[in-house]
Amino acid sequence: MKKVTILIPAYNEEESLPYLYKRLEDLISKIDNYEFEILFINDGSKDRTLELIKEYRKKDNRISYVNFSRNFGKEVAMLAGFDYAKGDCVIIMDADLQDPPELIPTLLKYWEEGYDDVYAQRRSRKGETFLKKFTSKMYYRVLQKLTKVEIQKDTGDFRLLDRRCVNALRKMRETQRCSKSMFSWIGYKKKAVLYDRDPRIAGKTKWNYAKLMNLAIDGITSFTTSPLRISTFLAIPTFLMLIIYFIYVIIKCVRLSIPIQAFQATILLILFFSAIQIMLFGIVGEYLGRIFNETKNRPIYFVDEYNDKREENEIK
Ligand code: UDP
Ligand code: MG
Repeated sequence: MKKVTILIPAYNEEESLPYLYKRLEDLISKIDNYEFEILFINDGSKDRTLELIKEYRKKDNRISYVNFSRNFGKEVAMLAGFDYAKGDCVIIMDADLQDPPELIPTLLKYWEEGYDDVYAQRRSRKGETFLKKFTSKMYYRVLQKLTKVEIQKDTGDFRLLDRRCVNALRKMRETQRCSKSMFSWIGYKKKAVLYDRDPRIAGKTKWNYAKLMNLAIDGITSFTTSPLRISTFLAIPTFLMLIIYFIYVIIKCVRLSIPIQAFQATILLILFFSAIQIMLFGIVGEYLGRIFNETKNRPIYFVDEYNDKREENEIK
């Protein structure tokens, strides 16, 4: 029998978990041609999330969990899930029931048909603000323009990945992760399944605009060096302007012999060039930061406990 891992990153989800477990339980008990593993990654929750998971595990041996040593973020939680998943395929789901478990049979159906990455595409997004929808739409448009890999529109992390996709993602051990573009980058046969995204069942979203902004910048800089090219694009017209202005000044001085109001021009020029330089330094710093983070070569996460067993973190 094929094994299916349902991977659920959870951070402070004590309010959602009971609903989630109930609905998942109901659903998978009706599917009997697969063996299921429900793998929770407790991402350093400060509430009763871990206790609840342990409680469920006592009654239900399909449940596994990884407890992180602290909060590492959802991107890292997903990687840990790929590392610990035992299934022939992995289905990633949010803990807040925004991703309806009822879609799982459809995902499995396409997997059986030979698709490696069956992703759920949102037809609608309930309970999300206009601003969030708008900014996320604009961001994906920009990301798509900048990067060469195709990124699926209106798609989150809710998807089914075949074992070989999971292994491919496990090989990509970068610290600042942007799974959305990684899913595209690895390739393999993809299939979209449409669904309506529900509002969060309980609790609050863990995202804020600062977090989203970080994710957005990581998304761009981890996949393309094209922002570095902005310097070239800006440098050419700037240089042209400089030459034209220089010629203009020379001609004016020689021909008409009038003094130039130099200070205004100077101030403007200084401001203009410092602005450009600051921006370019920012971009260079962006990549330098990435190189710095990657060269440190640190483990991406630490596990405190895996399935009731203390992780000793021994040095091999
Ligand atoms: N999550 C996580 N670590 C974090 C933040 C979030 O594991 O640092 C989990 C969270 O528990 C949920 C999923 O990631 O299962 C999506 O989070 P959330 O619902 O807050 O994001 P949104 O749906 O608003 O984008
Ligand atoms: Mg959510």
